[in-house]
Amino acid sequence: MAKMKIKKGDKVKVLAGKDKGVESTVIRALPRKERVVVEKVNVVTKAMHPTQANPQGGLTHVEAPIHVSNVMLVCPKCGKPTRVAVKREDGKKIRVCKKCGADID
Ligand SMILES: [Zn+2]
Repeated sequence: MAKMKIKKGDKVKVLAGKDKGVESTVIRALPRKERVVVEKVNVVTKAMHPTQANPQGGLTHVEAPIHVSNVMLVCPKCGKPTRVAVKREDGKKIRVCKKCGADID
């Protein structure tokens, strides 16, 4: 299984789907599914069953996960969407921007 190079808190640009072109922040990474949940991206309307906290039930809006191949990391240094290289330094893996060469972690 390919290891995801995108983590919670990363800024990403959406490459496909109804929110194509949007830049936002990863709020959850789901490595086993190779998916990420991105703030305000792929928002779906969900019907809620009535609960004690919400006795009316009704509709709510939540972000649905999107496949990690549909987003590209936005480099915090150069601000451009980029592919990510990984280098090893002192036994640690460090993500590197392919555009400007800056360390991302
Ligand atoms: Zn960069």
